Amino acid sequence: MSVKDNIDKIKSELPEGVTLVAVSKTKPNEDILEAYEAGQRVFGENKVQEMVQKWEDLPKDIEWHMIGHVQRNKVKYMAEFVSLIHGVDSPRLLKEINKQAKKHDRVIPCLLQIHIAEEDTKFGLDEKELYELIDSDAFKAMANIKIVGLMGMATFTDDMGQVKREFAQLKSMFDTLEDKQMGISILSMGMSGDYAIAIEEGSTMVRIGSSIFGARNYS
Ligand SMILES: *Cc1c(COP(=O)(O)O)cnc(C)c1O
Repeated sequence: MSVKDNIDKIKSELPEGVTLVAVSKTKPNEDILEAYEAGQRVFGENKVQEMVQKWEDLPKDIEWHMIGHVQRNKVKYMAEFVSLIHGVDSPRLLKEINKQAKKHDRVIPCLLQIHIAEEDTKFGLDEKELYELIDSDAFKAMANIKIVGLMGMATFTDDMGQVKREFAQLKSMFDTLEDKQMGISILSMGMSGDYAIAIEEGSTMVRIGSSIFGARNYS
């Protein structure tokens, strides 16, 4: 199957209102252009330098999403163009994004990453830290970031019951923030292996890499 076939197939399975982020990390520009020709405009990367290089090389109507863990000293390189930062997991990172966004006179949309998985290797805020952050005065004073939703990654396991419970937990936090009238609309959850479950549990944005571009080679 070609990249185009994969995209067409996945898109045909996504309900209306669910956005596809094509995760192109480690993949060459040719692969991204193939997806672009198939109509895909939203791409996700997990390394700032790699995303900057691709942004420079590729068509300017691509929307670049940073889906990986972000180091504060790298924010400045993407502040000019990044469309959405998925992995915001600390007040200090948010403060830096706000500072760099201000330099470019823009508001950068961000998702707060929530730790829902069992593994402690995955980044993210817990529920208590989430509410502390959004209730803080420092947060309320940041004019150059906008929290538009939440992001999470489920445990890497064959136990689909567990994956479902973790996504449901994230959805319930999302609903709580909606009730607080925070103006959020994006729930980023679901990857190649679990996006069908994520959608059942209320995902509005799926991040899919290997099912579009094939397995990644890190060597
Ligand atoms: C790599 C990555 C994905 C895509 O993973 P696939 O299993 O290839 O679909 C999604 N989200 C994040 C945060 C990633 O780092």
